[in-house]
Amino acid sequence: MIFYSTRNKEDKATYGQAIFKGLAEDGGLYHPETMPDLREIFDNFDKTTSFLEIAEKTTYALLSDEISQEQAHQICHRAFKFKPELKKLSSKISILELFHGPSAAFKDFGASFLASSMETYLADKNERAVILTATSGDTGSAVARAFYKKDNIDVIILYPSGRVSPLQEKSLTTLGENIHALEVNGTFDDCQRVVKEAFQDLNLKKEYSLSSANSINIGRLIPQSFYYIWAWAQQKSNPDDKVNNLTFCVPSGNFGNLTAGILASKWGMNVNKFIAATNANNVIPKFLETGEYKAIPSIATYSNAMDVGDPSNFERLKEIYKDNKEMSAEVEGVFVDDQTTLKVMEDVYNRKDYFVCPHTAVGYEASSRFLEKNPEAKIISLATAHPAKFLEVTDEALGVIPPIPQRLKSLLKKDKIAEKINPTLEDLKFFLVKNF
Ligand SMILES: *Cc1c(COP(=O)(O)O)cnc(C)c1O
Repeated sequence: MIFYSTRNKEDKATYGQAIFKGLAEDGGLYHPETMPDLREIFDNFDKTTSFLEIAEKTTYALLSDEISQEQAHQICHRAFKFKPELKKLSSKISILELFHGPSAAFKDFGASFLASSMETYLADKNERAVILTATSGDTGSAVARAFYKKDNIDVIILYPSGRVSPLQEKSLTTLGENIHALEVNGTFDDCQRVVKEAFQDLNLKKEYSLSSANSINIGRLIPQSFYYIWAWAQQKSNPDDKVNNLTFCVPSGNFGNLTAGILASKWGMNVNKFIAATNANNVIPKFLETGEYKAIPSIATYSNAMDVGDPSNFERLKEIYKDNKEMSAEVEGVFVDDQTTLKVMEDVYNRKDYFVCPHTAVGYEASSRFLEKNPEAKIISLATAHPAKFLEVTDEALGVIPPIPQRLKSLLKKDKIAEKINPTLEDLKFFLVKNF
């Protein structure tokens, strides 16, 4: 599989090159040049096929021109010590729980697979790399956990002092070993600016082999297709379920998760539709309706991991679909406001005895609205984070809080190790020189 930059079709890269570059030099996103037909492989998957087997076989099918079967096995087995789960909430809606990984959000799937891929490629070349990343909280925790103790890789995470939740700060700062937390005296934008400046300093970039683990990295996108394929395979061997009626509902912000599902469908996972569910940051649903893409300054909502006013994966969606009409045939846009989100969290808890995080609630509401118009549909609605990650909102919606998983609880007791820096490239350079 070869990837090209969404801004320049001549800029091509192998998977091994694209994962270390992150973004293409022209600022574009790497995207598959051709869509392989994997129907023969997918047809062999059914209810009994494990998530790991699906991950491994799909990885090898996609990347067999550059990795061996043994390496595909190694990358997946190291990456996925956790798996997705399906919970049937009604005869029409099942929830695909993607929060059983170390940071309790679906981003664990992408981050773990990227880390594991990088480890394999670095060992092959006998090289080292330093991953530099800025976080407002969630991405950093998934990245930190995914890269912890990976051979030949160090991770430096810049986070804004006093602006991440206590749980998020602990998950960034308590691991130690190859994970280095820099507590930046500034905002998230300052952190991002310093990281950007570091990447623009080509000497620095080369000397320390700087790479990124951004959510736009193709090594994070590809593994997100695996849980769609797994859930689809679970469903298709149910004699009373018609796979063709299957619709996936995806709570979306940057639209990486939705794009991964669409890729799986282009490779041969036959489904009826995708629902793109957003909060008030409804740029894509509006685009589907009007054909006009209008970025907005992001609006703060309860489902804050989806507060994106200019979703970066729109560049990939534009490569897949000619225009909004073509896209509307396969994707339905729905947006849900904050008041409804709270109400849905409460309703689902009261009626189904099940906790949903605010992001998952946006998806659940979008699924219900879709069902009203399409009563024959079967929906798999993605649960993107564990509800215990959003205790304040859950408490506000229900007056009760969900049980906190042990892996999150134990974090709070650990000691924070972080170095304080000012938001300047000088300070970051000083840290690099001192430590590497
Ligand atoms: C990142 C995130 C999303 C949005 O996913 P995209 O791939 O950016 O669309 C939704 N929910 C949660 C909990 C997230 O962390």
